Amino acid sequence: MAQDIKEVSLEQLEGKLLGLGTQKYYARQIFDWIYQKGIFDFNAMSNLPAGLRKQLAQEFYILNLGVVDLQISRDKTAKFLLQLPDGNSIEAVNIPTAKRVTGCISSQVGCKYACKFCASGLGGFKRNLTSGEMLDEVLYLKNNSAVIPLTHIVFMGTGEPLDNYDAVLKVIRVLNSPQGFNIGARRITISTCGIIPGMKKLQGEDLQFELSISLHAADDKIRTQLMPVNKQYPLRELVFACAEYIAKTNRQITFEYILIKNLNSDLVAAKKLVELLRNLRLAKVNLIPANFIPEFKLAAASPEEISRFQKYLFESGVNVTLRQERGQDIAAACGQLRLKHGKA
Ligand code: SAH
Repeated sequence: MAQDIKEVSLEQLEGKLLGLGTQKYYARQIFDWIYQKGIFDFNAMSNLPAGLRKQLAQEFYILNLGVVDLQISRDKTAKFLLQLPDGNSIEAVNIPTAKRVTGCISSQVGCKYACKFCASGLGGFKRNLTSGEMLDEVLYLKNNSAVIPLTHIVFMGTGEPLDNYDAVLKVIRVLNSPQGFNIGARRITISTCGIIPGMKKLQGEDLQFELSISLHAADDKIRTQLMPVNKQYPLRELVFACAEYIAKTNRQITFEYILIKNLNSDLVAAKKLVELLRNLRLAKVNLIPANFIPEFKLAAASPEEISRFQKYLFESGVNVTLRQERGQDIAAACGQLRLKHGKA
């Protein structure tokens, strides 16, 4: 049975071509056609011999995801609901700023972690995405990037990337490779809710990427309330694993922290956060004003609360940034577009 060619790595494709009795260097040209030029038809790959094009079309197909819905914000953030061959749909988002376009991709259909602020978990977990499907998301975003080419990729769409470990790493290799998307490792971010075994595994990879942890509270009681996964991987163990990660890789970890009214945004919470991260050598905090999702009735902290929190962290010596809100008018928080279509 034919296979989506995006499932195979460059090395695998080279091996396949040798098996077909032809030259392996064609693999680089094929990668270039697909990932650099965005071509979905072997016949259009004009520098390949006609015979090879025919063979390729028998062995492989090039999946091209269809779009079910799209929303484009006034700030040009574009959210796409993409249709998978099995009828499931996934969200992918393009977030342009002056100098960059960040593609935000999903790693799973649905999510099993049921965080209390995130629409992705509302309908539970369906399945992992394949590496080919994730690359399809990136291709879709690249081919539909309005302003400048895609410069950054974040695994911050639906799903937990570290629970789909092998496929996500395979995708990163193609994102990173000069024959693939040629996106620098510093521009690729894996975001996790804190899956410690996955973080340990990441330390041993010969790949560079950025790691973000969705923290959202520095107090076990509040974090467990917001993120049930905290019962399995509580804060003390999580921070210990982060310290180990930093020591082994010498790379910074970014802690994502959504500021929610009356829950985790007062000065007591800020103090706890400073304490929690005190011994981490390379840590950064990214504060996020909560996106309101009707199902959860959680309100965003006020601008005054946000700046007070940020100021406290800054004055305590924490490297802190405030995420600019994007796509507010198009319900751009994780999973919201999919929810609208009753797919959750
Ligand atoms: N499972 C991974 C990847 C999902 S990205 C993880 O947990 O990191 C999850 C991120 O989506 C959160 O850190 C947060 O940045 C964002 N997010 C989800 N729901 C949100 C909401 N209601 N408001 C603001 N950001 C939200």
